[in-house]
Amino acid sequence: MKKILFTAVVAFLGMTTAQAQFGKLSGKKIDALTTAASAFTVSDAEIKQSAKEAVKWMDENNKICSLDSKQKDMREYAERLERIFGPYKKYDGLDLNYKVYYVTDINAFACADGSIRVFSSLMDIMTDDELLAIIGHEIGHVKLEHTLNAYKQILLTEGAVKFVGSTQGTAADIMNSNLGGMAEKFMGASFSRKQETDSDDYSYKFLVANNKNPQALADGFQKFADMEKEYGADKSLGAKMSSSHPDSEKRVKRVEERIKKEAKK
Ligand SMILES: [Zn+2]
Repeated sequence: MKKILFTAVVAFLGMTTAQAQFGKLSGKKIDALTTAASAFTVSDAEIKQSAKEAVKWMDENNKICSLDSKQKDMREYAERLERIFGPYKKYDGLDLNYKVYYVTDINAFACADGSIRVFSSLMDIMTDDELLAIIGHEIGHVKLEHTLNAYKQILLTEGAVKFVGSTQGTAADIMNSNLGGMAEKFMGASFSRKQETDSDDYSYKFLVANNKNPQALADGFQKFADMEKEYGADKSLGAKMSSSHPDSEKRVKRVEERIKKEAKK
């Protein structure tokens, strides 16, 4: 029951005409959902505040590499990310912050509040410039408001379920009632193919603007492609960088074609 409701709300939020989506639900449920979904709203400021709280929770629940970690390799991860990311803290009108999680997943993610988290195992397999290319991609998700829009959708969906039939409730209520669950939902937000491609393009520009060779973006994706071949596409790479999205092989090609095209200009 709960599951049906949830799916229906997701469909609703993604569509402009609500009615068709509720074909299988009774009239009474339609009214409740429609009312709740339209009554509950969130502002950009509330979304960013929610993102901040979610990242804080993530930070508290992951092992973080810091410059004063007791473990030498953890200090080294922090130093390396500082060196690579440090120059771009205030990039493109954004106020970014970054940390390394000491984990075995190969991943990185960005949050709507400008927080970017890089996993130590991703750092293990990437060169500095490849890592910067991935960071550029994540910055793209923030700058192009992909994370903001995804979190908005998540909050609206939660609100529609949680405050069903009621006009009361705020984003803060949702976050407070289930911070860890919401953090995981935010971090697990997936983006459309178009958004991924747009973020790739953002990273390309980011690299060129900062005198880096955009080939690093292609090389980074090539490493993903190789791993996908070896381990299978769906689990090795964490959600963000590759699964559900244009496959890595295609991304490599796209970047390399652009490099060739730009060279001819
Ligand atoms: Zn992405």
